[in-house]
Amino acid sequence: MYAFCNNNPVNCSDPSGMCSAYTGKYDPPGKKDCLSVACPSSTKYKPPGTYSPPGSAPPPVVSRDEWGAGGGSWPSDPRKNAIVIHHTVVGDHSADGVRAIDQGHAIKGFGGIGYHYVIDENGTIYEGRPIGNIGTHVEEANTGKIGIALIGNYSETKPKTPQLDSMKSLVASLQRTYSISNSNVYGHQDINKGTECPGQVLYDIVMANYR
Ligand SMILES: [Zn+2]
Repeated sequence: MYAFCNNNPVNCSDPSGMCSAYTGKYDPPGKKDCLSVACPSSTKYKPPGTYSPPGSAPPPVVSRDEWGAGGGSWPSDPRKNAIVIHHTVVGDHSADGVRAIDQGHAIKGFGGIGYHYVIDENGTIYEGRPIGNIGTHVEEANTGKIGIALIGNYSETKPKTPQLDSMKSLVASLQRTYSISNSNVYGHQDINKGTECPGQVLYDIVMANYR
């Protein structure tokens, strides 16, 4: 269920009854609930349960079983509070491409694919590292971070429309599930200053959409 406050969705679905207000952080118990969020009267307010963000149907995802992921086990990391966008630079736009990433990351010692999702140029979304487990997609500090990689090199080229559309609907779906605000949607270079990932063109798109 969602309320709408200051043009920001407010998540009212946390089982504790506390309001996360899309910050990814929960208010201390008893401090604030969804119905007591302060909304200036000049802003739009809709009662909980009536807000449906654009693209609200979760997009279809090709599961690990379906694309033939290798094995692996990783520490549990169920609470997600940020989304990090990457590009893969190289790779086929197919399940073969995803298997190649899986094998490449296994060779690097990641125990298999490090991104939680991979999107090809046709807009197909592949499940990567299981979402409940910690990813391996930034230097250190992977806790709480969902990694989404777009297959391809977007330093100078724009991703194709289906690929961008799938990225946006996946990000929106994850924002709703985990109460992640736009300000916690990053390009990889925001987290690790030494990298050019996700490519300047895609980075600019991420900033245009989420800042
Ligand atoms: Zn990256």
